[in-house]
Amino acid sequence: RVAEPTSLTAVTERSLVLIKPDAVARGHIGEIVSRIERKGLSVAAMEMRTATETVAAAHYAEHEGKPFYAGLLEFITARPMVALVVEGPRAIAAFRQMAGGTDPVEKAVPGSIRGDLGLETGENLVHGSDSPESAAREIAIWFPHLV
Ligand code: GDP
Ligand code: MG
Repeated sequence: RVAEPTSLTAVTERSLVLIKPDAVARGHIGEIVSRIERKGLSVAAMEMRTATETVAAAHYAEHEGKPFYAGLLEFITARPMVALVVEGPRAIAAFRQMAGGTDPVEKAVPGSIRGDLGLETGENLVHGSDSPESAAREIAIWFPHLV
């Protein structure tokens, strides 16, 4: 039997998580942070703020030109939200699984944050980095002093 490489589970990753304005407005900051901590991930940084147009556009640069882009930027900059750096073994994949698929009804399964708490793709409560490259890019955008 081949031993599992320890690096698969032992390496600590960082993910950029956003608790989006809809989740903050609905009073779900505690619920979402609690789920992150219950999973065993740790909060390395956390800040409540209203995203500027510049930060939001940089964060969602990959979606520029898509039909939902303008609405997405308007939504994300309109009200306060919470940005976090979440840390732990396989933190990126772990949080993506916890968040659930992008569409809270069609894709996110019950038990996930979006599956349990959401109804609309445009108001799907959370963001989580989708790769180590995205995480590094997004942490530099939201927490430049940590890089
Ligand atoms: P994520 O990585 O699961 O957050 O999904 P994407 O990276 O594909 O999209 C980024 C965000 O844009 C999503 O979380 C949604 O808030 C929004 N979004 C994506 N697709 C759609 C769509 O078809 N309609 C609307 N209204 N919003 C969308
Ligand atoms: Mg994404």
